[in-house]
Amino acid sequence: MSTNTNNNSLYNVDDLQHIANELFKALPNEFPKEISLSPDHNDHPKATKVVETLLSAGNLEEFTPNTSLQNPTTAYPSHSPVSGFGVSPSVGSYANTGVTDLLPTDLDTVFPNDKKFNINNPNTGFSDVNLKRGNDSNAFSSFNLNDNYLPFQTQGSSFESELKEALTSVNTVFGIQSALVTNPTEIQSSYYFLEDNPFAFDKKSQLPALGHKNSFHEFNQLESAPFDANLIKKDFPILREKVNGKPLIWFDNAATTQKPKSVIDRIAYFYEHENSNIHRAAHELAARASDAYEAAREKVKTFLNAGSINEIVFVRGATEGINLIAQSWGENNLSVGDEIVVSNLEHHANIVPWKRLADKKGLKLRIIPVDDDGQILLDEYAKLLNSKTKIVAFTQVSNALGTVTPAKKMVEMAQAVGARVLLDGAQSVSHMKVDVQDLNADWLVFSGHKIFGPTGIGVLYGKEDLLNGMQPYQSGGNMIQDVTFEEIKYHKAPNRFEAGTGNIADAIGLGAAIDYVTKIGINAIGQYEHFLLEYATKLLKEIPGVRLIGTAANKASVLSFNLQGYSNDEVGQALNKEGIAVRTGHHCAQPILRRLGVETTVRPSLAFYNTTQDVDKFIETLWELKKVRF
Ligand code: PMP
Repeated sequence: MSTNTNNNSLYNVDDLQHIANELFKALPNEFPKEISLSPDHNDHPKATKVVETLLSAGNLEEFTPNTSLQNPTTAYPSHSPVSGFGVSPSVGSYANTGVTDLLPTDLDTVFPNDKKFNINNPNTGFSDVNLKRGNDSNAFSSFNLNDNYLPFQTQGSSFESELKEALTSVNTVFGIQSALVTNPTEIQSSYYFLEDNPFAFDKKSQLPALGHKNSFHEFNQLESAPFDANLIKKDFPILREKVNGKPLIWFDNAATTQKPKSVIDRIAYFYEHENSNIHRAAHELAARASDAYEAAREKVKTFLNAGSINEIVFVRGATEGINLIAQSWGENNLSVGDEIVVSNLEHHANIVPWKRLADKKGLKLRIIPVDDDGQILLDEYAKLLNSKTKIVAFTQVSNALGTVTPAKKMVEMAQAVGARVLLDGAQSVSHMKVDVQDLNADWLVFSGHKIFGPTGIGVLYGKEDLLNGMQPYQSGGNMIQDVTFEEIKYHKAPNRFEAGTGNIADAIGLGAAIDYVTKIGINAIGQYEHFLLEYATKLLKEIPGVRLIGTAANKASVLSFNLQGYSNDEVGQALNKEGIAVRTGHHCAQPILRRLGVETTVRPSLAFYNTTQDVDKFIETLWELKKVRF
């Protein structure tokens, strides 16, 4: 037997060891983070159990572990070239699905055919055990995990069930589910739901690097791995929190999103290894901090498909970005009688700065109306536009209703009368592809904390010439080229707008959040969330006394509603008792709620780590309320 393969030369020991490590790390435990295939080197019985399980699941009884195995930390360096910042991504996670982290296994041969298992939901294309809803005729029918058993399951200890759970997720990532169950169903090699496959990469080019000759099939297996929100959930430590004794269900994503471990780690890494002010020193840490900060800017540029990094200004958030435009461009380019157009859907952040400017300078603020579903009335919008219209500022997605506005069309219409356009992307960038060149807006703003990044950091995108023609918003250090008491020369954008010491660590954290979202694929995220929104909407509508506020044909993430017989606060509190976090109130968007006849709503808002199971719990709680008061 070769030292690196099993008896029929099909299995690479390093790979198997890596799988064992991935599996072990995915378990909710505090035990050693590296294990060896060699029984001698495992100092924990659970590690031994993991190895045994893998070996028996893989039908590798004849495999003899090699005691001179390569150190797994050398074989799979924790300084991942994919993430590039020397932090090991969390394990069993989508954050960890870069090419260098993927493990090839010749599944077809190593694992017998009669142990294959279909993990793809034929209706939706993503894996969600919760979608098993009775008979096959049901639209959501899928597979039943309980129909299958694992070799060690009969022992029934809590570790056994943890291990089973970890196997499920690790298997989903590594495509080895087939080995661990006994149902002789077929693995599907494709799924139609996701255009943007999180596992897609140039397989052929990776094969030599991974040292495998005949394993093209195994990559097809990986490609068929479905989008799995339950797996994504594991990347977000806070989602393991209990609230009132119940697992936290985070449905307040429109207010802020939770942060994956990779973002948390990245910020900690900055403070542990790179912390320095940027751009102003010759020393090593200043270089590290500056590089990391500028790399984050580059990531934002790519994410938005901006033309240049000079178009990306770091600000505190969407609010600061809008104020910057109002106070810099608006202050200097608008005069009495000019018109500002905003929509009825806007967040206060995109109303108040314009109203203040209008009052101060004698400008007219005009409002694009919406219909009863909360959709922009394009004909009415067209009537508002004229040669006095100098700027149109509107949101791409409404935070109170979820309406997706026809942004590209609206930008075109504004520009046809010579107006500038500011797009509020606070609620859009985390749910859909936002391409600033395609949209062609003059400016776009968003906040890091709504896209799985930190608070206190956000982005103003602006066309380069336009930014360079604008006066600074704040002034001081960093933004100047030269200062004398007679004259001050400013830098060009973006530095011109980044006066003082910025939020360096969180800009870098935002870069890590963008990496995370990019690895999953924004289109996959959008499609999954769309499914989840439809799923939740359908169930919510079935509850008597629910009034949905905002019923646009094109929506993202948000379900605003009232429940007859209950105040919104009562509903929020009842949900909180079950560990479900939703927002109640006016959502900083009073004009649109009043337009639809309400002062406040209950607003669950979804993200890609939410599952149908979360939705079911939420719906069940509302039904319980209905039982008490009709
Ligand atoms: N615009 C919209 C559409 C929003 O939803 C929000 C935040 N709720 C903002 C602007 C303001 O964002 P921030 O508070 O992060 O500056």
